[in-house]
Amino acid sequence: MGPTIGIFGAGQLGRMLAIEAHRLGLAVEVFTGSPAAADPATDSARTPTGAVVAREFSGAFDDDAAVRRFLAAVDVVTFEFENVPSRVGELAAEMGVAVRPATTLLHAAQNRARERAFLEQHGFPVAANGVVEKEEDLARHLARLGTPAILKTADFGYDGKGQARIESAEPEAVAAAHAAIGGGRAIVEAVVPFAFEASVVVSRSIDGATSNHGLIENRHVNHILDVSIAPFAGDADIESRAVALANDIAVAADLVGVLAVELFVLETGELIVNELAPRVHNSGHLTIEACAASQFSQQIRAAAGLPLGDGSIRQPAAMANILGDAWPDGGEPNWAAALNHPGVSLHLYGKTEPRPGRKMGHLTAIGATPESALETVTAARAALGDPGSG
Ligand code: AMP
Repeated sequence: MGPTIGIFGAGQLGRMLAIEAHRLGLAVEVFTGSPAAADPATDSARTPTGAVVAREFSGAFDDDAAVRRFLAAVDVVTFEFENVPSRVGELAAEMGVAVRPATTLLHAAQNRARERAFLEQHGFPVAANGVVEKEEDLARHLARLGTPAILKTADFGYDGKGQARIESAEPEAVAAAHAAIGGGRAIVEAVVPFAFEASVVVSRSIDGATSNHGLIENRHVNHILDVSIAPFAGDADIESRAVALANDIAVAADLVGVLAVELFVLETGELIVNELAPRVHNSGHLTIEACAASQFSQQIRAAAGLPLGDGSIRQPAAMANILGDAWPDGGEPNWAAALNHPGVSLHLYGKTEPRPGRKMGHLTAIGATPESALETVTAARAALGDPGSG
């Protein structure tokens, strides 16, 4: 009924985007970003997204010929992750393929130093920070920022990867932290004494209309998202300021698509932007069950040039990630025990190799209140470890 959508990136986010495109009757193709698996027996032979589309285009993002073949098959491209080179945008422009969101936004979000610069330039609140080109810069910034501080690689950091906490400004501690993230370009920032973490997933259409799902509360374990809860049960003023902030960022970024704004919320209610993700986000997975239009629907609608849907939270929901750690040695989690909990949905991403820390799927529970949804989803996830799995 509309344009053929191309998705760059073939993980679980692409998978859920593709499923949503199918629901809308839109044709959808995926570009994996990696060469085809030499061994078809490995799970990279069929990516999480490739498994739900008719054909997947394999190839590295810097393989112009492969990218061109993909672009020739689609009308508009969107992204499931931001680490796609700007060159892809140039090729798309050459071939008359619309790019939503624009690669300029991706470029800003794929490097922490550029992301901080964009946010600061527009006056959006970020943690006190400094850009580190070499170790001397680090010592200089620490004199101003104090300790503890957090050192983060500038490029390709996610889920706390490429991060080191610096407890003291002693030269040995500073050198050890820099070595721990592999040296190189980084940013160092003050530790934010947040009361909790939250996100706003905002969408914007080609005509500039915006929508969001309110403030979603996020809890992390080992720097990886563990659970998300909505609607926000705290101070309504915090939520309205957070939503206004996310909208302002979407407008400043000239977004067409979805943007997740990760926030630290201080005890005082002050908001600090931690990170931007110009795409659907793990914290927004609960919108599939909680909203008339999920974050995936919004990104596909925006990419296709269609009107956005109603993103408001219709029913309280909580999401719990399922990591590879949930797999017992040589066995399977007890899926039936989790599914026995009323109100629980299971989403598995089709990954066959359950490595520790790897996001394999998630559970969402709906409930009468956010707390009861959280209780249900936590109990359902705990039940994955019940004996009796087959
Ligand atoms: P990031 O990869 O930047 O999203 O960081 C992952 C997690 O590390 C965040 O969700 C926080 O829990 C924690 N973190 C990152 N930066 C800071 C900071 N400046 N102060 C306190 N905690 C942080």
